[in-house]
Amino acid sequence: MTVQPDFAFIAGTPALCLVDTVGDRENTATDRLRDPADLDAWMAAAGLGVDGAQPASLDDLLRTRDLREAIYRCGLAIIDDAPFDPTDTRCINRHAQQPPLRPQIEGGAVALHADRPIEAALSTLAADAIATITGPARRRIRICPECAMMFVDTSRPGKRRWCSSATGCGNRAKVRRHRAKRLQPE
Ligand SMILES: [Zn+2]
Repeated sequence: MTVQPDFAFIAGTPALCLVDTVGDRENTATDRLRDPADLDAWMAAAGLGVDGAQPASLDDLLRTRDLREAIYRCGLAIIDDAPFDPTDTRCINRHAQQPPLRPQIEGGAVALHADRPIEAALSTLAADAIATITGPARRRIRICPECAMMFVDTSRPGKRRWCSSATGCGNRAKVRRHRAKRLQPE
């Protein structure tokens, strides 16, 4: 039995939520997309699942990870004020060229259709990545200093440092600072 990984969708954009399927990148770098079933579970949780689709293949998983890491490196490049690596933009562009998911209203709800569901979902994610790394959100891409999660700061002042994870990165840092202060000699 596979244990359902805990996916978080708090990065502000679907593309960065995909990036964050690798947890704690600066330490343990835990990949939550360990097998194709994880990918199906993530796509469904992300609202990118196609009803009745074939289960994802290993190849689908590898292509998803490639796209994910290309988006991550583009995010890092923005933070470092460096140009994108052309290999990464080629990868994102290649995915964005595929036909995306087709939304349809069915019985008052949205159902997604695609001839090749994972490819279409990756196309949709690649398009989101392009919008994120070239549009106004670009200046708001951050990395949480606690958990290394990449996110778009959607707060109005744009001064958010920490992610909004349930484990409370901002709060943890605050507690640590408070403790360090108390330990300082008077
Ligand atoms: Zn965090």
